[in-house]
Amino acid sequence: MLNIVLFGPPGAGKGTQSEILIAKYNLIHLSTGDIFRANIKGETELGKLAKSYMDKGELVPDSVTISMLQAEVEKREDAKGFIFDGFPRTSAQANALDAFLSIKQTSITCMLALEVGESELKDRLLNRAKTSGRADDADPNIIQNRIDVYNRETAPVAEYYKAQGKYKGIDGIGSIEEISARLFAAIETTSVS
Ligand code: AMP
Repeated sequence: MLNIVLFGPPGAGKGTQSEILIAKYNLIHLSTGDIFRANIKGETELGKLAKSYMDKGELVPDSVTISMLQAEVEKREDAKGFIFDGFPRTSAQANALDAFLSIKQTSITCMLALEVGESELKDRLLNRAKTSGRADDADPNIIQNRIDVYNRETAPVAEYYKAQGKYKGIDGIGSIEEISARLFAAIETTSVS
């Protein structure tokens, strides 16, 4: 299986690039943010809980996020592989993902980390707000909190994959096609087991 963690701060381009990668490699895209937003739209209990954190730019608690993600993986018995987009965002989530995949006799192939500077991220998110309808993209204070939470809780997850020799940093500045080409090149130089 080809199991990719597509990593990077909010606004780095994970959603856009995931769509391109799933089409090319025939993978299943699991975006925890998208799943939470679908639950908010469907007015589920999970959606109500997630919204109370997302509206502030805080992380949804690990226990809730991990069990939701595992249930989504379980639904896709026939998958050739997954792109995890926006997960793992904490060390506890990274540990849980490894444990869970090993029970399924598979593992993360690589972490592809899109690298984009903070001022570019803020510009992109405010621009995305015009079409995304996302309240957490429209408010500069919430954007700043999301970036701070990323730096404090999520950035250390990269160390976890570096220690396993699975981390690949990708320059996230350029056209969508240029960045996709960098991701394809990184995937093609990674051995898949
Ligand atoms: P995203 O769509 O990835 O930008 O995520 C939007 C929001 O959903 C985040 O700011 C968090 O509130 C929540 N969220 C998404 N993924 C996770 C995760 N893996 N752990 C905790 N909260 C998450």
